[in-house]
Amino acid sequence: PSVIVKKLFLQGKVVTVNQEIDYDTAEEIAMEFDVLCEKEVVVDVIEELLKEDEEDESKMVKRPPVVCVMGHVDHGKTSLLDAIRHTNVIGREAGGITQHIGAYVVEAKGEKITFLDTPGHEAFTAMRMRGASSTDIAILVVAADDGVMPQTVEAINHAKAAGIEIIVAINKIDKPSANIDRVKQELAEYELIPEDWGGSTIFVPVSAHTKEGIAELLEMILLTAEVMELKANPNREARGLVIEAELDKGKGSVATVLVQKGTLHVGDAIAAGSAHGKVRAMTDDKGRRVKEAGPSQPVEILGLNDVPNAGEVFVGCDTEKEARNFAETFIAQNKVKLLDDTKSKMSLDDLFNQ
Ligand code: GDP
Ligand code: MG
Repeated sequence: PSVIVKKLFLQGKVVTVNQEIDYDTAEEIAMEFDVLCEKEVVVDVIEELLKEDEEDESKMVKRPPVVCVMGHVDHGKTSLLDAIRHTNVIGREAGGITQHIGAYVVEAKGEKITFLDTPGHEAFTAMRMRGASSTDIAILVVAADDGVMPQTVEAINHAKAAGIEIIVAINKIDKPSANIDRVKQELAEYELIPEDWGGSTIFVPVSAHTKEGIAELLEMILLTAEVMELKANPNREARGLVIEAELDKGKGSVATVLVQKGTLHVGDAIAAGSAHGKVRAMTDDKGRRVKEAGPSQPVEILGLNDVPNAGEVFVGCDTEKEARNFAETFIAQNKVKLLDDTKSKMSLDDLFNQ
């Protein structure tokens, strides 16, 4: 059933497992069935849906990069994220109080960068297991006094597998024992070769403590984003990812989502994994009420009927009925692939901030 549901889904027909389909549709699917069987059958319908959804180039506009921080434990991921947040203009707004919504936007040289914060790693992990990615650029943090460690290597492998651009931040350069060249040498073994050594990887020596190099790191992120030509169509129904979600006693289901394409509005019907509903209210990463959110923007939304998992895809729908169908299809699908998902979670989790 999940294969058939998926096929129909990709053709834009939202059906549930126990729904009748017409003869022509059934025939069409049967004809393709052999081909399908040769491939991995249990493919995530949502992931496929996102891939299929090619955009008209003329409607695409530049969007901010989405960045995550990876690296070995204690190499300074949390400190670096804090340093970035606090050296930024945004930290000064509202008396320096920034709301924690699992992702935040900083501005450098008048341009925005979206960082997936601490709990954001869950979304990243889940998406990775789906073979899709939430992130454009990974900051690989390597402590200058410690060098490449097991989780550094894991982080490199995961970023490469996910097709994410890597920028190396050699951290803790304020330490007397810091050895930048040694880190460069060690990373060269993993094909991360600095530009000054004839390679193409950007290395930025930084100190989360003294803030040295932070501004340059942000600049390098923007430069990398520029080269990647990150674009999205803001004028379409929204699609993106759930970064984190929880049940709040007063507000009900509260989900932080990252819009990847389109624009999400208050009042939109929406499905997020197994949950669906209508966006009742939206708050940005600075705690401000907003009416809409465009590509690469993280927002907290109220109005879902249930708490979706981090890493699930959300889709803006035309009607609430469509949103409900989407969620039901998702639930039906997930019964099939639930088993695969639990395995590698532990080691991936270690790569990120805990
Ligand atoms: P994480 O496990 O990767 O998130 O690392 P943390 O951010 O928790 O940092 C681990 C330890 O390294 C803490 O004691 C930090 O104070 C320290 N640390 C982080 N960045 C720097 C830095 O730039 N210089 C120095 N000297 N220590 C740092
Ligand atoms: Mg940490």
